[in-house]
Amino acid sequence: MAYWNQEIETMDPARLRALQSERLVKLVHYVYENSPFYKKLFDEKGIKPDDIKSIDDIQKLPFTFKKDLRDTYPTGMFCVKNTDLVRIHASSGTTGKPIVVGYTQNDIDNWAESLARGFTSVGLDQDDILQVSYGYGLFTGGLGAHYGSERIGATTIPTSSGNTERQLSLMEDLGVTAVLCTPSYFSYLIEVAEKEGRSLKNNKSLRVGIFGAEPWSESLRHRIEERSGIKAYDVFGTSELSGPLFTECPEQKGMHVWADMFIVEILNPDTMEPVKDGETGELVVTTLLKEALPLIRYRIGDLASVETGVCPCGRTHPRLMRLKGRSDDMIIVRGINVFPGQVESVLMKIPEVSPHFMIIIERNGELDDMTVQVELNDMSSDKVDDYNKLIARISHDLRTVLTLSASIELVNPGTIPRSEGKAKRVIDKRKF
Ligand SMILES: [Zn+2]
Repeated sequence: MAYWNQEIETMDPARLRALQSERLVKLVHYVYENSPFYKKLFDEKGIKPDDIKSIDDIQKLPFTFKKDLRDTYPTGMFCVKNTDLVRIHASSGTTGKPIVVGYTQNDIDNWAESLARGFTSVGLDQDDILQVSYGYGLFTGGLGAHYGSERIGATTIPTSSGNTERQLSLMEDLGVTAVLCTPSYFSYLIEVAEKEGRSLKNNKSLRVGIFGAEPWSESLRHRIEERSGIKAYDVFGTSELSGPLFTECPEQKGMHVWADMFIVEILNPDTMEPVKDGETGELVVTTLLKEALPLIRYRIGDLASVETGVCPCGRTHPRLMRLKGRSDDMIIVRGINVFPGQVESVLMKIPEVSPHFMIIIERNGELDDMTVQVELNDMSSDKVDDYNKLIARISHDLRTVLTLSASIELVNPGTIPRSEGKAKRVIDKRKF
């Protein structure tokens, strides 16, 4: 097993916790002294930096929210002067002001270090050629992955998103060994390659995919691995925390969260008390080393679970399990929470169905109606009965998972619009 930073990655859990304590104590003093936002927040809650003596005191600290970042637009939560920043990214907020994230040189270095550990853990090194097909620009995906890739000394190809034909050609011609993009875009690359008779399965160089920026299911992983012959790994991050940060290891059972850099808590959303190891709750993250925009107990809005035992790969850092979905992606239909990822996990277990689908929500009188447009891999059968059986199966499986009935509409291959980045899965026609 190769490690990027073996001493840290396999550090004894007790020592790791002591390191977290030490860094947390430093952090609370740092934010109190350097950010008017945090000083005000601590003062309002009657908390003094000296009250925090170790990680055991973390629950005394107040939470921070996405709303705080919006309310203090653009840089009200920052702890350094703008002239100390070396880079700024911003979220692609469709409504209102974006969230602005700043980085010092150390922040950029730690971000690259975090991904360098992850990329190494999935077996990549300086001999690899990484194609970064995440968007470059204000979005953190492209540049984040780029710096991580360069950090391990890999050859980095910044294709960014889009231009599918060129993506495929470069992949083949340059002997790319790993590709990074959204799982939905990679599904599209597989499809286009197959259509052109150059199936990715025949590409002997390509062996790893690192997919993120949207929640995806275990069943889509199986589908991707089967159809492309690569190993598909999940990556987690969000712009507020830096960008893409944590990947799975070869076990493919959760993404290692580097505990020397971040504290993760999983809390019961009703009581905000910690849940038991492995139980699902709200993900709350504290950044331990960030200088420009440190976040204390930041409530990202994701539901997740964490496993803390030592991983068979030897790493002692906690594993964030596959996310059920982001609260931003959740839709409420007839009072029931629906995550597009749940629909995907059902559909990907059905071989006749392609990875592309669309959820359409309409209001019919007082009631919400949910239709799922399901694209088939092949619609050449002339037996109506086949289609009816398929509709009945999809409808039954979805009802079991969602506890909600949906109308199923089968559509021809290629009907659902393909996305080069984060896939659009929902059209909500309701007017609130
Ligand atoms: Zn592991």
